Amino acid sequence: MAPEPIAELAAPPSWRSVDLLSDLHLQPAEPATFEAWRRYLAASDADAIVILGDLFEAWPGDDAAQEPGFAADCAAVLREAAARRPLYFMHGNRDFLVGHAFAQATGVRLLDDPTRLDLAGQRWLLSHGDALCLGDTEYLRFRAQVRAPGWQHAFLLRPLAERQAVAQSLRTQSEERKRSGATYADVDAAEALAWLEAAGADTLVHGHTHRPGEHALDARHRRIVLSDWDLAARPPRAEVLRLSGAGARRMPLA
Ligand code: MN
Repeated sequence: MAPEPIAELAAPPSWRSVDLLSDLHLQPAEPATFEAWRRYLAASDADAIVILGDLFEAWPGDDAAQEPGFAADCAAVLREAAARRPLYFMHGNRDFLVGHAFAQATGVRLLDDPTRLDLAGQRWLLSHGDALCLGDTEYLRFRAQVRAPGWQHAFLLRPLAERQAVAQSLRTQSEERKRSGATYADVDAAEALAWLEAAGADTLVHGHTHRPGEHALDARHRRIVLSDWDLAARPPRAEVLRLSGAGARRMPLA
C-alpha cells in the first residue's frame, strides 16, 4: 500500500538537473568509496543532489558525528556540499536512524519515502526500495519495528557504545546471510505500480537491491534501479543517475 498522502518535492524552474545516488554503504574500512563520493560532491554541477538511502553502512545515532572519527568526516563533507546546493537524504535500511539533529548540523534536508519529484514537467517517484520488497517478510517485520518512533526513542537512550555494538552485530548477521547464499526478494512489480498510480508518476527510481537496471511495469510505467558504490570491487562501481528535462541518464564515475 502506498503511503498517503505521497510527499512532493517541486523543483523550482531554475533547476536543470537533479542527481540521484544510493547504496554507498560508507564505512571506515572502504576509504576509496568515501573518497570517490567526496570528490563527486565537490565537483558536481547538479542543481540538487538526492541520496536515496544507505549512504552509511551503519548509523548508530546522530551523536556518533559529534566525536572525531568517520561519522564526523562524513558530516563535514555533507555540510560543505549542502552549503553549495540543496542536498536531500532519504533513509535506507542501514541508516534509518539519521535524525533531525544530523540534518540540522549538516544542512541536509530529509525526505519521506517515497517522495514525488516534479522536475521540468516530469514526475519521478523516489524511494529507497526496501518497503517494496514484499517477499522479504522477515525484514519487513524488522523494518516496522525499527521505524516506530517509540522504538527509536528508547534505542537512542542507550549509550552510544552499546548502539554501535548492536549495529555491528546486525552487519555481521547480514554478512552471514549473504555468505549463506540466501536469495533476496526484489521489488514487487504490482506494489511498485500501485505506488506510481497513487503518486501520479510514470517512473519509479530506487536503490536497495544493488541490481541496477530498468524494468517496464506496463505500457506506461517503469522503474529504474540505481547502482550501489564499491570502489574496491573489480571493476569498481560508482554511478549517479542524472534527471533533467531530457529524461534519466546514468553517469559512471568509476
Ligand atoms: Mn538498502
